[in-house]
Amino acid sequence: MGELMNCPNCGGLFVKTNLRDVCEKCYKEEQMAFETVYTFIRKRENRTATILEASQGTGVDEELIIKFIRTGKLKLAQFPNLGYPCQKCSTLIREGNLCDDCAKELRTELSTFEKEEERLKELREREKRTYFVK
Ligand SMILES: [Zn+2]
Ligand SMILES: [Zn+2]
Repeated sequence: MGELMNCPNCGGLFVKTNLRDVCEKCYKEEQMAFETVYTFIRKRENRTATILEASQGTGVDEELIIKFIRTGKLKLAQFPNLGYPCQKCSTLIREGNLCDDCAKELRTELSTFEKEEERLKELREREKRTYFVK
């Protein structure tokens, strides 16, 4: 069972499913774009193309190519130079949402945040105790 929603591409109503997040018409267009990109990138001389080169060579939007990679439609294993930008700094990455540096930074930020939370909790506990002592 899918839910009825507006297509993010053209605004038309369609039933959203796990496989499809755009309407029938746009899905077909995406499918055709995918075929075009895939045919292009499979050629021996294009194996090492970047997204930009693939986009220029096929006329397909970079965004769409990135979507193909993110959704796993386009497998990166065979294409050493394909990747998509990290959500924070735009370095090209090949898996996840963040590059190694940003992921590391995020982890540090998180643990600093947790430590701070701990400290505040302790402070509050201590305040409670002193209150009761009085
Ligand atoms: Zn559509
Ligand atoms: Zn990054």
